[in-house]
Amino acid sequence: MSLLATALALAAALVAPLAVPAAAAAAEPDFPSSMSGYHNYPEMVAEIQAAAASYPDIVQVFSIGKSYGGRDIWAAKISDNVATDEAEPEVLIDALHHAREHLTTEQALAILRWMTTGYGSDTTVTRLVNARETFIIFALNPDGMRYDLTGDPFRAWRKNRQPNAGTTAVGTDLNRNYGYRWGCCGGSSGKPSATTYRGATPFSAPETQVFRDFVKSRVIDGIQQIRAHITLHTNGELILWPYGYTKTNVPADMTSLDHTTFVTLGRAQASRNGYTAQQSSDLYITDGDQIDWLYATYRIFSFTYELYPSEQSTVWKDHYPDDSKIPAQTARNRTAILYLINQAGCPYAALGSDARRADCGPLFDDLEINRGWVRNAAGTDTATRGLWSVSNPASTSSNGPKQLGTTVSGSRALVTGARAGTSASTNDVDGGTTTVRSRPITLPASATSYGPLTFRYYLAHGVTSSRDDALRVIVEAQDGTPTVVFQELGAANDDDAAWASASRSLAAWAGQTIHLVVEATDGGRDSLVEAALDDIRIRRP
Ligand SMILES: [Zn+2]
Repeated sequence: MSLLATALALAAALVAPLAVPAAAAAAEPDFPSSMSGYHNYPEMVAEIQAAAASYPDIVQVFSIGKSYGGRDIWAAKISDNVATDEAEPEVLIDALHHAREHLTTEQALAILRWMTTGYGSDTTVTRLVNARETFIIFALNPDGMRYDLTGDPFRAWRKNRQPNAGTTAVGTDLNRNYGYRWGCCGGSSGKPSATTYRGATPFSAPETQVFRDFVKSRVIDGIQQIRAHITLHTNGELILWPYGYTKTNVPADMTSLDHTTFVTLGRAQASRNGYTAQQSSDLYITDGDQIDWLYATYRIFSFTYELYPSEQSTVWKDHYPDDSKIPAQTARNRTAILYLINQAGCPYAALGSDARRADCGPLFDDLEINRGWVRNAAGTDTATRGLWSVSNPASTSSNGPKQLGTTVSGSRALVTGARAGTSASTNDVDGGTTTVRSRPITLPASATSYGPLTFRYYLAHGVTSSRDDALRVIVEAQDGTPTVVFQELGAANDDDAAWASASRSLAAWAGQTIHLVVEATDGGRDSLVEAALDDIRIRRP
């Protein structure tokens, strides 16, 4: 901190009146003098503001929103050209969901220090500041952080400070309040007095709401920009990957490729800081936690760090290490955290094979979430049923399978009329054409630096089908000109659903930002028509 002393004093003078509620300023609780190496909330704010003042070209400080008690939840963006939203992979790191886990805020401040003081001198840091956009949230639970310091000297408080209706019990466990499989599986409590109380509803806490909205704001043109994430907790010296809600290693809501990547990334980080890497539920079942939500909703490679110390006999020994431990126990994680920030450029490359590196080309869509597909983007669709969606399809059968309930990867695909209905012809394509348009896809200037468009697909139809029925894939050039690059027409035979492979050159569109349009048509007389696509890719060669 001595390096920043001058700027710190300056910044504190500038921001302190904004950061601290006026009524609280007089009696701001603090750590005991024997632990003054820890930052309380105003000290934390001063250090963040000082970094922004000293390094304005690479640090931008902002609040993602306010806690229940009205305190700002401060964040920093660290990148070159920091005021511009560049097309660089993004990384998110957050700290202090849980009030008593003060070492996590020290870790977050240490990361900010590495990336500022190392910029221009440390080659790894310089490269990562230039090639990534790293966001750090320093204390998601500032009310709890402060309240914990009002004990003698601590309260071992965990939750936020939001009152609960109908009881004097205060607080929600923020890391059980996220909206994926909230309260599903015995990994949280429904009792307001419990330390793991999940809240009245998903995202009932202001703190998780503003976090959710910040992450949502990083979806640009249909694509979540954040590729990797670390949430800092104490304690146990662990690195955890999703899911927490189930002991199953690869449930239907995770692809096997993603699971392998999680294991590889987790172990690679642990080899750098001496922690133990494991699935979150190997510690204990949690539901409604943050990493489950981030992966399930946005496919972010999201990890929990449980910092120093290893498991201890009491909550006091677990959560309040002496401040003399801060420098070594935060520096210990430096190479692990910088490793993940680097891998955010292409998480699958961690698997080490050329094939996986190739997956980091212009398009890699496993359709497990909707990455910007828009139905009827041109407003000219005529189909009345069986419209496209990114969904988990139900199987249907009419003289054999017409819609497959299984997909190529994971559990979802781009499908027409995903639901089964009372018969195979209930939710097939009817009445004309249904289209779905991709997000903008930027192709490199040289056609040799990207491979063909590849995808898995089927067109299934009944015997009353004809050439008026079709599945088409169309490239929309940058100037809007459409070109059909793939077409399968119907015919007067019974054609069952079965996943096939297609590959088409996109060399003609080098250097352009294109869209793909997928079109399914039940034309002419009414017939049973189903179509689907999965694993759509434009890879590196
Ligand atoms: Zn925690």
